[in-house]
Amino acid sequence: MPVSDLRIAPPHLGEPYLLTPGPLTTSYAVKEAMLRDWGSWDGDFRAMTAELRTRLLALLGPGSDAFDCVPMQGSGTFAVEAMLASFIPRDGKALVLANGAYGMRSVQTLEYLGRDHVVLNKGDYLPPRGDEVAKFLAEDPAITHVVAIHCETSSGILNPVEEISEVVYGAGRKLLIDSMSAFGAIPLEVEQVRYEAMVSSANKCIEGVPGFGFIIARKDELEAAKGNSHSLSLDVHAQWAHMNKTGQWRFTPPTHVVAAFLEALRAHELEGGVAGRGGRYSRNRDVMVAGMRELGFETLLDNRWLSPIIVTFFCPADETFVFDRFYELMKDKGFIIYPGKLTVVDSFRVGCIGQMDEHVMRQVVSAAKDSLAEMGVANAAPPTPALKERAKLAV
Ligand SMILES: *Cc1c(COP(=O)(O)O)cnc(C)c1O
Repeated sequence: MPVSDLRIAPPHLGEPYLLTPGPLTTSYAVKEAMLRDWGSWDGDFRAMTAELRTRLLALLGPGSDAFDCVPMQGSGTFAVEAMLASFIPRDGKALVLANGAYGMRSVQTLEYLGRDHVVLNKGDYLPPRGDEVAKFLAEDPAITHVVAIHCETSSGILNPVEEISEVVYGAGRKLLIDSMSAFGAIPLEVEQVRYEAMVSSANKCIEGVPGFGFIIARKDELEAAKGNSHSLSLDVHAQWAHMNKTGQWRFTPPTHVVAAFLEALRAHELEGGVAGRGGRYSRNRDVMVAGMRELGFETLLDNRWLSPIIVTFFCPADETFVFDRFYELMKDKGFIIYPGKLTVVDSFRVGCIGQMDEHVMRQVVSAAKDSLAEMGVANAAPPTPALKERAKLAV
């Protein structure tokens, strides 16, 4: 398919657009790829698994031959748990850099796993900075691994992983990255950012359907991971060794999801890979944020920290604004938005990822404008406490 034919198709059969960070709106071709059955042990499917692994590794850029890719059944959280359990030895200690729900989920996972850990908790959205991490590491020599969230999807902040990586390796420790909602749209090339392992999943920026995640790790870390995991099904070393030996997944793979994912990977390449995908998402964000600001909405984050993945807006101070009603009005117009996750002030989120382009984003803005008018909201400006909250970022 020539690139000029790459149109953003409206969702099939009048489904709403999912302005949510996965599951997201997929192309018709991705859905269509699921219309047949595969035997999991058959050569055709083994070739599909091999292609998937090779294509994902290629996204790391030069130097990717030191890494390998291990797909893992389940949602993204399963892959995060598999990574943490497999690469942090039982006598290791992790420092988790948390600034939202996904960082806290890694903390909770380590609690379940019984792995020693400490948390640098920045609250709802403030970014963990290099100097703070350096201080933590200097004060606690027992820390072996640092866990960072690339894009913290709960606020939409793009955390400074390059800065964090430099500090971690400067202190002789190892970095594990949850790049779930960023990988495929934001570069994570191994020559630019040093890390031991990262995870992402099928239903985020590659634009597949949900059903598996994948761990990309240095081969020597994969070797060394033998015996670390507490779990049979989530053991990354075992899955890797078995896949390399037999070409198969250890347990029933999500065959249709893999077929859809390959189609999504081909579209990703045609769009220009990580740069092309990230470029479209950035335009989505820019058009949507500019339009929403014109309506009086304000973003939680300054432009500097806004990811092209998902954007948090404050709910308007106007008392006629009720989020549940706004949600239903937006849904009636064909757009599913997302409630916010801030603990201090009311907010909502709008995703920029999936099969959507800037034209769709303009429709999102006009749907928001009409929804406000229907609710009788004259002014979308946020309440003063929200702005005070945001001022914390400026310091
Ligand atoms: C989506 C996501 C996950 C995984 O969530 P699941 O619901 O298990 O797929 C983990 N971390 C981040 C940063 C995410 O955006």
